[in-house]
Amino acid sequence: MKNDYPYRERELALDPERQFRFGEGKISGYCSVALGTLSLLAVLAYLYPAWLTTIELRQAYDAAFLQHFLKYGMYFSLLFGVLSFVLNGYKRLGAAGILLTLIAFALGGYTVPVGPVEPRRLSLGVDWLILAFLGSTIVFMTLEKLFPKYRNQVILRSEWGLDLFYFCFNHLAISAILIYANYHASHFDWALSQAVQDTVRSVPLLLQVVIIILCADFVLYWEHRLYHEVQLLWPIHAVHHSIEHLDWLAGSRGHFVQVFSERAMVMVPLYLLGADKAALDIYVAFAALQAILIHCNLGLSFGPLKYILVTPQFHHWHHSSEKPAIDTNYSAHTVLFDRLFGTYHMPNEHWPAVYGTTVPLPRSYLGQMLYPVTKHWKK
Ligand SMILES: [Zn+2]
Repeated sequence: MKNDYPYRERELALDPERQFRFGEGKISGYCSVALGTLSLLAVLAYLYPAWLTTIELRQAYDAAFLQHFLKYGMYFSLLFGVLSFVLNGYKRLGAAGILLTLIAFALGGYTVPVGPVEPRRLSLGVDWLILAFLGSTIVFMTLEKLFPKYRNQVILRSEWGLDLFYFCFNHLAISAILIYANYHASHFDWALSQAVQDTVRSVPLLLQVVIIILCADFVLYWEHRLYHEVQLLWPIHAVHHSIEHLDWLAGSRGHFVQVFSERAMVMVPLYLLGADKAALDIYVAFAALQAILIHCNLGLSFGPLKYILVTPQFHHWHHSSEKPAIDTNYSAHTVLFDRLFGTYHMPNEHWPAVYGTTVPLPRSYLGQMLYPVTKHWKK
């Protein structure tokens, strides 16, 4: 049985070249560029909200209030830029951060007037990108620094730039993804049942959330399993599995076909259940946070919760190329369906020693997008 598999510890050497250390100017240089880029993007979003912000998200925040944060972001970008010059290191990054922020100031900075926005369905989710990036780095990077599973894994681990590109693409494309997902769900009108929707809405809010989680998990389980076990689909999903260092950014890597199809499939149960909006909002927030969390480099044990919910340890095993873990742990939210359908792999306290695919994939974005086609050429 799987029990006699020789589990080993992952060996990961510290790469000092990629490490962030205080006093070198590297941290301030990167912070300056990051804040400068976000500031410029935010100013552009304030200037062209119809094209660069998301209808669904605009209802959830106060654009005028967020300009206070933009103000601090811009001044901190300048401050970090100057600091990199004072510390005499990574001055190019500091200069780039200052330049980006000055362009943001020249375009109107944090004083661009906020007014009504012409509603457009298709737009770029620049607002979603900025808020998700800030939220993810603040919450999950902090957790990873406080409770790392692999202490030697650095923030700038190999291929972080590629995954940042995926992160940006997935967030910018949010309105296109939602349009496609809603269109896809509308094909299931024939399955709508007033009785089912009335029943769902008649139960307490938290129970509605549990029902949504279970139904979504069932769909996601089978969608995920098909991506692994149908030969034609695997090369698309293999892109997500090509990553060899899991962290808060890792979950972003995925072929756009998978990104679109996953959202489209999960929209079907959400549409058919017809739960209260509050329950849907709680589910969406829970699902978004859990999707990042389970990829994190996070050694927290989660206590008895790990027997109910998908945790980092559970999903890290899904990303392992070690034999007993291949084609296991498909669930996205709870461990229920893996338990039920015999694909559960959680060997006590062990974590994987190796991550990635058994066959190496191209390491570029374009190479990975074309992989489902080029794989067959090679044959
Ligand atoms: Zn998978």
